[in-house]
Parts: sequence; C-alpha cells; structure tokens
Amino acid sequence: MFGLMQDQPLLIASIIRYAARHHGATEVVSRLPDTSIHRTTYAEIERRARRLARALQRLGVKDGDRVATLAWNSFRHLELYYAVSGMGAICHTVNPRLSTEDIAYILNHAQDCLLFADSSFVALLDAVAPQLTGGLRGIVMLCTAAEMPQLAVAPGISLLCYETLMAGADEDFAWPVFDERTASSLCYTSGTTGRPKGVLFSHRSTVLHAYAVNSAAVFGLRPGDRMLPVVPMFHVNAWGTPYTAPAAGAALIMPGRHLDGASLTTLMNAERVTVSAGVPTVWLGLLQHLRTSGERLATVRRLIIGGSTCPPALIEAFEKEYGIAVEHAWGMTETSPLGTFNTPRDIPGEDEAAALRRKSKQGHTIFGLDIRITDDMGAELPWDGKASGNLQIRGLWVCSAYYGDPPGSASDAEGWFTTGDVASVSPDGNMEITDRSKDVIKSGGEWISSILLENIAVSHPDVAEAAVVAADHPRWAERPVLIVVPKPERAIDPASVLARFVGQVPKYWMPDAVITLSELPHTATGKVSKLTLRQRFRRYLLDSQAGAPRQDA
Ligand code: AMP
Repeated sequence: MFGLMQDQPLLIASIIRYAARHHGATEVVSRLPDTSIHRTTYAEIERRARRLARALQRLGVKDGDRVATLAWNSFRHLELYYAVSGMGAICHTVNPRLSTEDIAYILNHAQDCLLFADSSFVALLDAVAPQLTGGLRGIVMLCTAAEMPQLAVAPGISLLCYETLMAGADEDFAWPVFDERTASSLCYTSGTTGRPKGVLFSHRSTVLHAYAVNSAAVFGLRPGDRMLPVVPMFHVNAWGTPYTAPAAGAALIMPGRHLDGASLTTLMNAERVTVSAGVPTVWLGLLQHLRTSGERLATVRRLIIGGSTCPPALIEAFEKEYGIAVEHAWGMTETSPLGTFNTPRDIPGEDEAAALRRKSKQGHTIFGLDIRITDDMGAELPWDGKASGNLQIRGLWVCSAYYGDPPGSASDAEGWFTTGDVASVSPDGNMEITDRSKDVIKSGGEWISSILLENIAVSHPDVAEAAVVAADHPRWAERPVLIVVPKPERAIDPASVLARFVGQVPKYWMPDAVITLSELPHTATGKVSKLTLRQRFRRYLLDSQAGAPRQDA
C-alpha cells in the first residue's frame, strides 16, 4: 500500500519560486568588476530568471542542451543557474582558472550550445576560440550594451549582450514540471590526473543536497543569515550555496572576482555578512589581512572551510583572536560536494587541545550518505581512529558515472565510489583525511601523512603556508620534504621548524629537508598543487644529498 501524501518532483525551480514568494525582499548583493555594489532581491531574480528562460528559448535552447558559463559569483550568474536548469537545460559551469587547453577540451566534450561569459574573460575567450571544434552557436557577454567588449568570434558564432537579450524577452515563462532525475548542471573535476571528467548533477540530487546542507548539523542557514560564498560558482556550484541560501531565505552576498583579504573584509563588514564559505588559502589571506591591518569582522559568526585540509592553527586563530567559529567540511565534485561536516558541539571534560584536534578533522557523514574505509584488497577497516584506508562513499548525491561514460561505471556493484582520499574514522564517526592516495609518502613501506606534517609546520609562528611532498630516496624509496612560505617580513629557520615535530610524530616522519619558497603553486580550485611541487622536488634529496635518513630511529 502506498502512502497518501502528495507527490511532487524535486525541481530546482521550486527553490527560487519559494524564495521569491516567501522571502521575496531578501537581498542578493553583488560586487561588480569595477567594485561598485549591485542590489536585487529573490523576487526580482526569479522574475529575471523567467525572462532569461524566454530569451534562451528564442536562442533555440532545448531540454538537455548544455549552456556554459565562465563567470564569477554575481546576480547574473545566479539568474543563469535558475533559468537554465529550471527550463530543463543543463547549466555547465566552466572553471576559468584551468588551462586554455582544458577549457577548450571541456567545452568541446560537453558540446555546449551557448557560452555566457564575464567581460573579464575576453582574453581567455580569444585564446580558447581557435581550439573549439563546433557546436557553440553564441557567446553572450554578461554585461549591458554600453559595456560590451571587443571580441573577434569565429564565423557561425554570434556575439550577444546579456542585458540586450533580457530587455527583448517577456517574463511570461511558466516553470515546467518534469522528472526529478533530469540532469540540471554539469561541472568538470579539476583534472589533476588525466583529462577533466564531467559530473552531471540532477534536480533530485541538487534539491536533496540543499535540504541536507541546510539542516542544523551542516550549514544550517536561516532567514536573517547573510551568506558570502567565496567559493566560486564554477567550483561545484559554490558548494550548493546558490540553492541553500534562497531555500533558507538567507541573503546572498556575491563577491565577484575580488577575493583578497582586504576586499573581503570591506564587503563582509559593509554587507553585515554572518557566514561565509571558502578554501583554506582564502581564509589564510583574510587572517593575514586582519592581523596586519588591525581590522575586525563585525558580524561574521562562522567561516566554513573545505576543499583542502584545514590547519588547526587557522581554527585557533579565528576562534581566539576574532571570536569566529571555523567549521570544517569535506567533499568533492563527485559528491555535490558536501560529504562530511564537523558540526560544533560541547563535550563535557574535553580539554582545549583535544577539542582543537577534534574540530580539525573533516567531520561526521551527512544523513543521506554513507562512508567506509578499506585496505588495498577492498576489505573494510575498523573505525578506531588509527587505521587509515581508501575512503569510499555512496548516497543520494554521489556521482554514479562521469558524463559520457556508461551508467554506473564510477561506482562498484554496491554503489561505493572510491574517492582517492585516504582517511581514518574515530569510533564515534569523526572522519579524518590523512592524504590524497597519490600524495601519501611511502618511506620504507610505511605511510607518512603529509597533511599531519603540514598542520604541524603551519603552527610555527613564522610559517604562513606549508606543503609536504615525497622526494626520491636511495634507501627508503621516498622521504618527506617540507616546503614552507614565510609570513610577511619573517625569515624561516629550518632547525626551529623541525624542532616543532619532535615528540609530535614518530622520528622517521621528520622531513629530510626544509625548503623556503615565496609562494606555493595552486591548482585551478585553490588547492596547493602537490603535483607541481612533486615534479619540482622529486630529485631534491638525490641531487643535494640533503639530510640524513631518519627511518632507522
Ligand atoms: P574537488 O572535486 O575539486 O572539490 O576536490 C575534491 C578533493 O579535495 C577531495 O577528494 C579531497 O582530496 C580534497 N578535499 C576536499 N575537502 C577537504 C578537506 N576538508 N580536507 C582535506 N581534503 C579535502
């Protein structure tokens, strides 16, 4: 017997319809390229998204067509999110920080019919255009007619202006109802190994992810919150914030391309931001700015951090110096992206060091998902906080196959998706990433966690950023080398940095060399590029014969 409750498909348009009807006056604030501020509301965004859907229909966009965006976080990008998915087409967000070869590959692979781009990407479009192999009918610049840039487009591709298209379209579009499993958006993974792969989200997975992320155990957004997603809308849908904020009736503050510490501080204070989300590099930049300028964040209560491991020193600094909670999340493009979340809690009798250690882990699995860790033979490992293994995940918003691949090909017969991360899980379910499987250092057959070493290094008062990579070693196969970036106007004394490790890790974990760089290379999604560092320092110990092996200790 079926239950007798109403049955409605979970569709993305329902989110913006809800926000427009029930939180219509709630603001969407955008910082434009010239740093001026644009203000609108959810009611207006929904109206303009309907107008945009009509304009897209006029341009021939049909169900299932891919419509690409190359854009920063702004109200126009938000309108595209809802218009494209809401009408039954697929919103394909492209990461402008990727190489031109990767961008051309992605646009060709997805066979996008239209590309909506910010004017700041004109040079990038010029570079990519000759590599496009067809399918693209038009490039629409996200600006007014007066702001249209000069851009040479290939024959057969039209160059259009967003606001001109909008002015010529009607608002009479009605959001269609269709199967909730319909594809809604497409995002290619950063492609650190091999070619980028497309993750194709559905309306159902996106709405379920939004419900889950809005629960009190995760982001828990609510009316009155003012969320500033620093994480770009081209990186896994800005971690779902363009859906979660309107679904919660929370305001969205869009920073555009101004993501440095000073710009963020000004915007956060002027727009009374209560919560923000971004990668560790962004929060390190913000912290450095606050410390050097003496400014404070008047209204921010919490910073959500993910994408890379969160150094405990960062949690401590924001909590103690600024009274701001840092909440650690883990996920990946293939998991929409939220997989685990470290929800704040009080544990009676827990001392400060243990609390910091707990908060630095990646957190508990969100309801709707399940995780496990396995050894290299596929046997499940215990949750004892010690055993480290391959992290697998399955659930309601986990990828089952990459775009263009056969159904189910990304997971095993039981639905487990292998993340490529190495993790341990404490008996109470708190998961800790100890490495990326390809970043783990294997010294004399023993695994050394680069993340743990990096966390210790950044707790040194002179170190701003740190990365540990494997370097070839004649006896131990691999040994860790530590690469550090000093804080402004500080010099690094390698002996004092190495002294930090004493007593905190087994002796054979001690890095064999400390190398100082003025900055670390980053990937297109803001993570430290271990691949670049590994390639650069792979032979460091062989060439310099630096350091002595410490494994025998
Ligand atoms: P992406 O698909 O670009 O979002 O990258 C996903 C990968 O980022 C994961 O598989 C992890 O290796 C890494 N990652 C994401 N969040 C965290 C975190 N909180 N701590 C450590 N690594 C993370």
